[in-house]
Amino acid sequence: MLYQLSNSVREAAHSGIREIGNLAIKRPGTIRLEVGQPDFPTPPHIVAAAKLAMDEGWTGYTATAGLLSLRERIAGKLQRVNGITADPEAEITIGPGGVGAIAALVGALVEPGDEVLLPDPGWPNYRLMTTWSDTRAVYYPCPAENGFGPDLEQLAALVTPRTKVLVVNSPNNPTGAVYSQDVQRALLEIADSHGVWVVSDECYDELVFDGEFKSLATFGSDRVLSAYTFSKSYSMTGWRIGYATGDRQVIDGAVKVLESNSSCVSTISQKAAEAALDGPQDCVGEMRDAYRRRRDLACAQLEEHGLLLARPSGAFYVMADVSAAGIDSRSFAIKFLEERGVSVAPGTAFGEVGAHAVRISLASSEADLQEGIGRLAEFLA
Ligand code: PLP
Repeated sequence: MLYQLSNSVREAAHSGIREIGNLAIKRPGTIRLEVGQPDFPTPPHIVAAAKLAMDEGWTGYTATAGLLSLRERIAGKLQRVNGITADPEAEITIGPGGVGAIAALVGALVEPGDEVLLPDPGWPNYRLMTTWSDTRAVYYPCPAENGFGPDLEQLAALVTPRTKVLVVNSPNNPTGAVYSQDVQRALLEIADSHGVWVVSDECYDELVFDGEFKSLATFGSDRVLSAYTFSKSYSMTGWRIGYATGDRQVIDGAVKVLESNSSCVSTISQKAAEAALDGPQDCVGEMRDAYRRRRDLACAQLEEHGLLLARPSGAFYVMADVSAAGIDSRSFAIKFLEERGVSVAPGTAFGEVGAHAVRISLASSEADLQEGIGRLAEFLA
């Protein structure tokens, strides 16, 4: 049968991380270092709240923006953690994961033909958002020599009259970079001077290892939309719940986009999210401490072999240099998996800047990290 699919969607590549993951699944015993999700179970008090919600009949639709009682709790978290003041009635919407919230913001802001500035290396899902929105992805380099921070001169030079949105992701996937306040101010200056909206993906806001993390929206610009998730801080990836905050007209637009594609996030997940915010926050700190320990361990081992590109300060990833292999990182990742039984995410999945690097996930046990990095060093040698 001849399918008439959307050209832009048909031509877009699937995730290059999934490709390696699918190969790894077929090889039992593989050390999985490509996976980008926490390896901890969802804390039991959150699971219990979901069970109770079902028993109590919280099983119907909610408002598209989510339960007001949850948005009120989110307003409290935004104030406590991010220093952001938001009206729960008009300036917050819940979405299906951080990704759903970000996609709704993009959908609310862009017209076909607009340009969207994306980080390279960057999370591949942003690129896919430019396919269905019929916009053009323009990549700003965040090179390893810069600690994977943005090259501000190059970024400024990429702005055109069609630039509508600048996507900023700090703490960053895949590099773990957390941008300094000077860099944050400079990014906002570029955006503000050109009337560009900023979508600040702060999904790893509570996974920062060194120093303080400051949310971009607290620097005084009113063109910043911020996105968050329960996936990372509370190990709730499968519950599919995140949220966005910012200008009320943009949030209202995002709600319309969400109306068209999800109606609302699962009510059971929303009740679980309430429990996450109401309950003790030690679980967030304990997971962060575990990632920090793994970061220290992995960095020391990579450094010893001259493979560390930059020390991550947040999120749960570290980039390793595989340029010694003399091949692109996708070919390298496949070969490494087949010959040494370890799966890593190829830098090519995140853009061109990381073409000779691989991403190692710290959401893996210390033993797996040690063994996997040991095999990487050996293989490269
Ligand atoms: N943003 C970044 C940079 C991510 O890495 C992820 C998940 O991997 C997300 C957003 C969204 O995650 P979720 O949709 O599970 O909230």
